[in-house]
Amino acid sequence: MRLFPAEIDYHAPIVIIGFGSIGKGSLPLILRHIRSPRDKMVVIDPDDASRRLCELEGVRFRKIALRPDNYRQVLKPIAAGGFIVNLSVDVSSADLIRLCRDIDALYIDTCIEPWAGGYLDKSKPLASRTNYALREEVRAIKGQGPTAIIAHGANPGMVSHLYKRALVRLAADMGHTVAPTTRQQWAQLARNLGVKGIHIAERDSQWADIPKLPGEFVNTWSVEGFLSEGLQPAELGWGTHERHVPPEATFHDTGCRAAIYLTRPGATTRVRSWTPNAGPIQGYMITHNESISIADYLSIEEDGKTAYRPTVHYAYHPCDDTILSLHELQGRNLRHPGKIRVMNDEIVDGMDELGVLLYGHSRNAYWYGSQLTIHEARSLAPYQNATGLQVSSAVVAAMIWAIENPRRGVCDADELDHDRIMAIQEPYLGKMVGAYTDWTPLDNRDGGLFPEAIDREDPWQFLNVIVR
Ligand code: NAD
Repeated sequence: MRLFPAEIDYHAPIVIIGFGSIGKGSLPLILRHIRSPRDKMVVIDPDDASRRLCELEGVRFRKIALRPDNYRQVLKPIAAGGFIVNLSVDVSSADLIRLCRDIDALYIDTCIEPWAGGYLDKSKPLASRTNYALREEVRAIKGQGPTAIIAHGANPGMVSHLYKRALVRLAADMGHTVAPTTRQQWAQLARNLGVKGIHIAERDSQWADIPKLPGEFVNTWSVEGFLSEGLQPAELGWGTHERHVPPEATFHDTGCRAAIYLTRPGATTRVRSWTPNAGPIQGYMITHNESISIADYLSIEEDGKTAYRPTVHYAYHPCDDTILSLHELQGRNLRHPGKIRVMNDEIVDGMDELGVLLYGHSRNAYWYGSQLTIHEARSLAPYQNATGLQVSSAVVAAMIWAIENPRRGVCDADELDHDRIMAIQEPYLGKMVGAYTDWTPLDNRDGGLFPEAIDREDPWQFLNVIVR
């Protein structure tokens, strides 16, 4: 039997913006873990298809689209002194955080979102459509204001706690007992262990009994969210061990400088990685906040230079029907598909295997993460699949942390207490697995059938990881 011990009292209003796949999954968990008056809770979404589900939970639903010209007027009276939970697409995180400062409200989102159209605005330079730019804008909101946790779902979010656990386990397996608490100590530990990089390695194997139709784009979470990030430039935290700069790489000349972007979309950029259940995979290097925040958090500066930083990026193998959808998207030169579907009740089997692969050290590579099947997810919480539960459990865990730590200002996931978050979230994550592998990106590429530009001296160069 599973126990869900973490509960907290909270008497102020909670306003949930967005009632899509993540909003619907998060609401019952919020009600389960945060004892707060339901008459002060509101859900806001322009689409009221799920209004009844919300009202069945005893929570008010308001059908409205937030826009730059109305969000303050709508939110001020209902969210002042409370908690804004942004689980929407197309509502600016930066503007909501600035509002939260004015009305003394806590804040969380699972992705740093711009206003509608922000991801695809061709009039803007490519650099301003990156997650790097979105994160820099939000991180510039400085000071000790109310806690605003940015990008805290599964990834970005939970994975920032997973790599810390993985570092401690790796150290233990190498004979060292460590308990880092500061950013400097975590970075020093990663450096001492010889970690060259971290993949956020995910294989979603959920499948449904409703076949994908030709021209239909299906996914296990927001199709719109996935298309937006897939059409942003591919981004990665750029490690100090890298010796081959990709031809499409662009470096930033302002900000933390921990990441670079490629002048191509993540939806067409594949990388080699590995997960325990699937083995070797080719995933998509979709841009994500964690690629930047983890690389930034683990950077060590010495004498004005970056002395250590791991390479960090996503390697996302979505479910098979989404792979097919991506293939069609590419065939249409990235034109938006007409029909979209988020798979949920029709899923028959499969799991979301999501973790971090720490590579390049003396034990080669170590994956640590969650293997959550659809069946277990359904037994743990309503209205979601395995992918959604990894996200919504991270949302509620970070909300509890924010209520316990209400004056921390803007926080990346890396700046939260990973033990506290994991203690709340772990009962929802299925099997937690740590596994070593001797696989490298050069696996079976010896004397290959075709000439390849590879670096044989160091298998863990990004040159070997990216699929050309
Ligand atoms: P979804 O598309 O299922 O739902 C988004 C909801 O936002 C929809 O119901 C939509 O009607 C609503 N919305 C659109 N415009 C709005 C507006 N102007 N005002 C208010 N609501 C509006 O998406 P989802 O799968 O629930 O994802 C929600 C967010 O969570 C996205 O930003 C997505 O990128 C993010 N996400 C993060 C993770 C993670 O692990 N960090 C995982 C999945 C999704």
